Amino acid sequence: MTKDHNDPFYTISFEEESVIYKVGDESPCMYAILQGRVSLYKETASGEIQIKSIGPGNYLGAVSYLGEIPRRYKAVASQFTKLQQLFEDNIETYIKQNSQSVVVLLDDLSNRLAAADKSLGQIGGMTKCAEEDESCVETELDQIEVKVEEELVKHNIPDVNPLNHPIYPEGHKHYNMGLTPGHEEILFDKNVTCPVCDKDFTLYQMRISHLKLVEVRRDMRKIFDGVDEIWYNVWTCPHCKYSNFHYDFLRMRSINREKLLEEMPGRLVDFKLPETQKTSFNEVFDSYYLAMACKKIVGASAYEMGRLWLHIAWMYHDCGDEEMFDVAYENARANYAKGWFSERVQLSAEGEQKLAILISEMHLHFGHLEDARKFVFEAINIKKGTKALAELARDRLAEIKEQIQIKKKEERAVVQESVKEDE
Ligand SMILES: [Zn+2]
Repeated sequence: MTKDHNDPFYTISFEEESVIYKVGDESPCMYAILQGRVSLYKETASGEIQIKSIGPGNYLGAVSYLGEIPRRYKAVASQFTKLQQLFEDNIETYIKQNSQSVVVLLDDLSNRLAAADKSLGQIGGMTKCAEEDESCVETELDQIEVKVEEELVKHNIPDVNPLNHPIYPEGHKHYNMGLTPGHEEILFDKNVTCPVCDKDFTLYQMRISHLKLVEVRRDMRKIFDGVDEIWYNVWTCPHCKYSNFHYDFLRMRSINREKLLEEMPGRLVDFKLPETQKTSFNEVFDSYYLAMACKKIVGASAYEMGRLWLHIAWMYHDCGDEEMFDVAYENARANYAKGWFSERVQLSAEGEQKLAILISEMHLHFGHLEDARKFVFEAINIKKGTKALAELARDRLAEIKEQIQIKKKEERAVVQESVKEDE
């Protein structure tokens, strides 16, 4: 646990598996989850059970804090997690900045909590059916907690686009997770002339040289300290709304320009464009889905679509939406695989190696062991690639073969078991 006392936002970080609070602890504050994931555990007669796992945009410990009761669950960071602590002295400012209407909700909540508290007190005197009633109050507390969280999330969202806008896929949500405060220090502004509408505008770009690489994930994602290079990857023209990856932005054929000028306005009625300087994941998602809308109008290669979906998938993962992560990851996989068979000529040998390893990893995520093996095998066989990537591919192949063996063993065991049952 690390705490920065100079931080006006009272943020606090927890390493993976560290306990945020235990059952029965005092409740001096509640928390807004900024980054990571928290698992909540309940104590039962038969041991500890996990009741839920929550991510950015959610609140933690609201009911116990507002009800002035001890913590009812144990909260554990299931990955590196950053929280904003909301105490008596900063919660008001926080709420004011986020929404006035939360105050009304909180008033209502404290009344209901007081009522629940009262009935809990009565139970003490009624020994007969105490157990039953206590669980009833527990359930009510749970319901209040769900309601508080839903309302807080709803009111906390700044001016964002409606989720039923056709630009979003089904299941997309609001991701009111702030980008790291201070990240703007590594931005620089750049003047650009839009290749579609010919108008000038200024935008921000990230100084890649200022990023500190922390790790490269199995699917080739580069993780940097505190910031992510993909946040500012897409540029959007504020005049005609044309959006594209910054490295492709200036390349636009004249035939496509006309198509975009004609079709984009109609597709983006009532759609608020992301600010030049982004503050939350909502805006990053918006920039990516704008780029996707443009690609759909002018037509794009499978690789380009694959890359868009892959970055979108990573962002869903960062926001803790694993369901949407799977949707986007599968779209990325399908597009990259299509590109592999039809557009491979565009790549360098190293690019081919990376792509084959990436597709293999995506198959692995979905449990397609045979396909994962095939693609990693392709990576091994690419001539003129780098030694390091060939080595990596060989390691992966060994790993996948082992998984295939384990799966076969398990399947044989199941078959033998069912044969036994038949006898
Ligand atoms: Zn433009």
